[in-house]
Amino acid sequence: MATVAYARYSSDNQRQESIEAQIRAIQEYCSRHGFSISKIYIDEAKSATTDDRPQFLQMIKDAEHGMFDTLIVHKLDRFARNRYDSAFYKRKLKLSGVKLISVTEQLDDSPESIILESVLEGMAEYYSKNLAREVMKGMRETAMQCKHTGGIPPLGYDVAEDKTYKLNEKEAIAVKKIFEDYISGKSYQQIINELHELGYRTKTDKLFKKNAIHSILKNEKYAGTYIFNKTKRVKNINGGQRNIIKDDEDIIRIENGMPAIITKEQFEKVQEKLKINYKYSQTFKTKEVYLLTGILVCGNCGSPMHGRKRKGGRNKSVYKTYICTQRKNEKKCDAKEVNKSYIENKVIEYLETEVFTDEKIETIARKAYEYQTKHTGESERIIKSLEKELGVIQKQIDNIISAIAAGMFHQSMKEKMDELENKKAGLEFAIEEEKRKSSLIIDMETIRQHLSIGKELRLKSLEEQKEIIQSYVESVIYDEDFMDISLKINF
Ligand SMILES: [Zn+2]
Repeated sequence: MATVAYARYSSDNQRQESIEAQIRAIQEYCSRHGFSISKIYIDEAKSATTDDRPQFLQMIKDAEHGMFDTLIVHKLDRFARNRYDSAFYKRKLKLSGVKLISVTEQLDDSPESIILESVLEGMAEYYSKNLAREVMKGMRETAMQCKHTGGIPPLGYDVAEDKTYKLNEKEAIAVKKIFEDYISGKSYQQIINELHELGYRTKTDKLFKKNAIHSILKNEKYAGTYIFNKTKRVKNINGGQRNIIKDDEDIIRIENGMPAIITKEQFEKVQEKLKINYKYSQTFKTKEVYLLTGILVCGNCGSPMHGRKRKGGRNKSVYKTYICTQRKNEKKCDAKEVNKSYIENKVIEYLETEVFTDEKIETIARKAYEYQTKHTGESERIIKSLEKELGVIQKQIDNIISAIAAGMFHQSMKEKMDELENKKAGLEFAIEEEKRKSSLIIDMETIRQHLSIGKELRLKSLEEQKEIIQSYVESVIYDEDFMDISLKINF
């Protein structure tokens, strides 16, 4: 796949690394490592605002369209404006499957950089929310015209030439039937069977499943309400993605913004019924959260162990366990099931006593902090030497000023003075730039706070517990007589 490069230079920077020098360094690196660059994106930076880097944004867009898989930059601070920005776009590139390489810095996989990355990702979320708002503005405009904004239209609709929705008469009959049948008391399965008998398939030509029926019944579009920006995709802890419903304020609804298939009354009736059925079903099944899914490994055969819930015994009590998948599916393994709360408690206990103690948190935070300062300690040295140089220049300027004050003046003094003032401005600029760079370090307190989320794990919600466990524990190997927990980070 393709490799591209990104370079940025500022036209007003007196100490700039010229654009040619950056590109030369990138090209040298590429020839040494066997990359060949198919495109170079170049921005001239006038000030440090997002909109000031059209080529950068174009590059991100191209990455999202899968046009390349490796991005090479000269220095990471050419890549993004600051650490938050950098974390945000690094993540974007990662999600698009793009590898980022810096010619002058080595990005490593050390535990410290893993911790830092997770701190940064947390921070980046706040930042990305603001940025997403900007992107939304453009999409809103399209939405206000009640146009289709991409993807497959819902069953019952097609997209017209002008991108608005138009009825698909045949499918609309199916939609109407689904709503009417549900109101009349038919079950999802009955509805599905009848649809299939009539030869109906989903928009992607598949058989209907209960999920599909459910989302049709919940779709406001069918009552003529154009709705936009209702869900967003979020990353799961296991790396997958899922849709969640956004805050009401972010959702755009336009009444009668598209052709209706059912009446508003029918839609409301269905929503009421769905609510009642949901409550009814919830009293019988509460969704079980298995904290160790994906990380629990059978010590007998090395296969994953899955959560299992069943009723048994004389009084039909509920048993919750983890069972080896080889035993469950193929009966190839004879490892015993393990009680869910027993093993989960063991893992929580381990994290509480071995990882998330004040002492350990302090150690990890310090390591992560030192890791940063080691990389930015260079800046401090540069600042010191620049300041020293500045002191010397200032002294020379002062000397000339006192000489002039004392009545001595010569044309050469003015020339010398101009030269010194020029140097002074250059140094001041360089110092400011280095300071800006080194001030972007994440402080100890922030790292500490981030790690403290693991404290009192037991008191957190199950979802939170799962998130924390899964982000720190690599695997738990369990057999009747032993248990081995490995962490993603070594302390
Ligand atoms: Zn097994």
